Amino acid sequence: MGGFHAHPVYMFNKKTVRDIDAQGKRVLVRVDFNVPLAEGQVSDDTRIRAAIPTIEHLRAQRATVILCSHLGRPKGEVRPEFSLHPVSQSLAALLNTSIGFAEDCIGPIAEAASSAAQPGEILLLENTRFHPGEQDNDPEMARQLATLADIFVNDAFGTAHRAHASTEGVAHLLPAVAGLLMEKEIRYLGEAVAAPEHPFIAILGGAKISGKINVIHNLLDKADKVLVGGGMANTFIKAQGHYVGESLVEDNSLETARQLLEKDAARLSLPTDIVIADDFTAEAKSQIIPVGDVPEGWRIMDIGPQTVAAYTEELQGAGTVVWNGPMGVFEFPAFAEGTNQLAQAIAESGAITIVGGGESVAAIRQAGLAEQITHISTGGGAALEMLEGKTLPGLAALLDK
Ligand code: ADP
Ligand code: MG
Repeated sequence: MGGFHAHPVYMFNKKTVRDIDAQGKRVLVRVDFNVPLAEGQVSDDTRIRAAIPTIEHLRAQRATVILCSHLGRPKGEVRPEFSLHPVSQSLAALLNTSIGFAEDCIGPIAEAASSAAQPGEILLLENTRFHPGEQDNDPEMARQLATLADIFVNDAFGTAHRAHASTEGVAHLLPAVAGLLMEKEIRYLGEAVAAPEHPFIAILGGAKISGKINVIHNLLDKADKVLVGGGMANTFIKAQGHYVGESLVEDNSLETARQLLEKDAARLSLPTDIVIADDFTAEAKSQIIPVGDVPEGWRIMDIGPQTVAAYTEELQGAGTVVWNGPMGVFEFPAFAEGTNQLAQAIAESGAITIVGGGESVAAIRQAGLAEQITHISTGGGAALEMLEGKTLPGLAALLDK
């Protein structure tokens, strides 16, 4: 298992909470508390837990910790079902302390609550997206947020690819540094990809090629091998000239797939056998066949055992492994084998292992392997943009070291 002893070269060049003196200061911390709710309660607190190291660090310095986040898509309106109130209860239980709550993130309510909060105390502000200025990156909203604090900390990696008032705008108005989660995410997703331990193996799957073209390009540039599965593989398989029946295929990406096959064939691995179904349902009939043998009316749902074995072999002795996108329709148990077995192989590879992407992370957790992965990203879209080699606006706005 790749542990913390196996860190890649450390080149994170932004100031963090460790570089500032927050003693007695008011610190506005943008966290990513965009968590799922069920019946008015937090149903998965992963992102809340991920923010705790930064909160504890600031609390230990006796800073006044003022937390803000968005939750869901209230589209600039006050929508009670998107209130962060359940999050404050969850956070209070996790930290075993009381958490103040302000019913608004800017204006008189937020100002009164933040000036009343004492050093060592924690205040959570209501959903930033209750104001249209958040997503518009409105300078006036950023200014109002900035009046609440002396220092700004961005720990919301999951929203760092968005230039919003509470992620980017406010960072220009206060001394602004990265939180510990942000630092960790960038180190793994950025530096591990830029300066990986070789052999560097990337595993790409998921539904579609189109949203991940730039990820494929960037990883083909950096990785020693790119192993492809999932719906994305179907378009490559069709581009190889095979019949794919009813499979999910993106015909407008066929030309790109052909070019990649021509240019990078040696580094691009594709399935040689597949699991097919006669319908897109959990109960569908299934068969394992070589690629190219899809009967009319059938569709590709997973990679086959021969492909799993070949990909597993590629993982032996790997230095760094990055995984994004399930190998098949893992939501249906009959088509989850490829994803589960590859997840197992990744966990056992001994490499520095990094998993990003909403469904990929769900698959790793479902397989019970999360503890054996070096870094599981808390950000879906932001993780993909890192894998594309892009700069995230929420990160770029922070102070350089
Ligand atoms: P991530 O969230 O990890 O980035 P994506 O959102 O790109 O991954 O894709 C995940 C989805 O891809 C899953 O819901 C899965 O069912 C689907 N998928 C994987 N393989 C196939 C396939 N062969 N046909 C159709 N859908 C697939
Ligand atoms: Mg997804």
